[in-house]
Amino acid sequence: MYLFAAVFVIFLYYIWIKYIFTRHRRTFTDSLQSLLQISRTDCGDIRALFVTAHPDDECMFFAPTFLRLAELKASVHLLCLSEGNFYNQGAERKQELAHSCEELGIPASRVTIINHKNLPDDPKAEWSISLLSTVIMKQIRTHSFNMVLTFDGKGVSGHTNHIAIYEAVRHLAASGQVPDDCCLLSLVTVGLIRKYISFLDLPLSWLLPSCLCCVIGSQGYKQAKAAMLCHRTQLLWFRYIYITLSRYMLVNTFQIIPQGPKNLKIY
Ligand SMILES: [Zn+2]
Repeated sequence: MYLFAAVFVIFLYYIWIKYIFTRHRRTFTDSLQSLLQISRTDCGDIRALFVTAHPDDECMFFAPTFLRLAELKASVHLLCLSEGNFYNQGAERKQELAHSCEELGIPASRVTIINHKNLPDDPKAEWSISLLSTVIMKQIRTHSFNMVLTFDGKGVSGHTNHIAIYEAVRHLAASGQVPDDCCLLSLVTVGLIRKYISFLDLPLSWLLPSCLCCVIGSQGYKQAKAAMLCHRTQLLWFRYIYITLSRYMLVNTFQIIPQGPKNLKIY
């Protein structure tokens, strides 16, 4: 009896995952339309900026969304706020980032890497929210982005540099400095178990409330993996476990960062 019930539950789970794979493109486009107030044919008008802290964040955490937006012919840019110089490998890591972005469909001309002495790659360094806000806002204005995607308040891995970026974007949102047509999204951090159950997390990601759910299939996974392998300086044994088991290699979910009244001065 228990065996029958277990087989039935596994079968239902399998059917559910299959269903998600048949629906995810449509759902992703519908969510984008609703978030950006655009029509289905206007997805090419999406100008998205991903804001990350280190070279490799783009593929470790955001690969599904990069790939899906590139598929829609959106204009996708990356702002990486450090060279990842913690072990003095900054020059090498910049090259790795360029190759990784190529795999994700982002040309080098759309990748900006900041090398600022006050924004070191260091979990113990407190990045200035004011400096980050200025750098991010300048980038938003320069390219008139209508979508900005970054970490949430837990930073997915809990890295303080990731969390500082979220705080800076939240500050920009709360102080009303972001243009009206620009939507701010934060990548949802999930718990440890969900983080490492790969595709088995899909039904939960699909079901739990989020404003954008982005899923990739086996072809997308191959691209995300190829991007991860570009970061050769980071390929320690546990990276291979991450590539194999992390749900972030297959699915991203986002929440909106609410925006306050415009041009509010915060003292
Ligand atoms: Zn990072």
